[in-house]
Amino acid sequence: MKIIDNLKGIRKERRTIALIAHDGKKAEMVGFVKDHLPFMKKFNIVATGTTGKYIEQAGLKVTRMERGPHGGDAQIAAMLVEKKLNGVIFLRDPLGVHPHEPDISMLLRLADVHNVPLATNLASATILIKGLASG
Ligand code: PGA
Repeated sequence: MKIIDNLKGIRKERRTIALIAHDGKKAEMVGFVKDHLPFMKKFNIVATGTTGKYIEQAGLKVTRMERGPHGGDAQIAAMLVEKKLNGVIFLRDPLGVHPHEPDISMLLRLADVHNVPLATNLASATILIKGLASG
């Protein structure tokens, strides 16, 4: 199967990405946003509540959902189902314990169900935004 076939589900015209970072990864997310501001400004940004607050301070306009443990991940998962997202950057803390683990698993699962690009670390996040920005 050609690569282009795998990209069929991506809605290029909308170009909205979701940013989520667990507490142990928020500093990395802010650094990532600052390092890639010209790319990030090409997208509509949606974020979970606390992540969104930090991203705003880094210089981006953000639509903020609820805080993650209060349903923010679930709201972003619903956006995946509604085909409102072109990509998700979710800097998870693999060493942390999270009270909203079921919501996190749901979000990751639904990104795969709906074939939406999902990056869970800085290396893949860089490729994701550059790919979407040039696509
Ligand atoms: P937060 O949520 O941005 O509100 O901290 C992220 C998460 O823990 O899922």
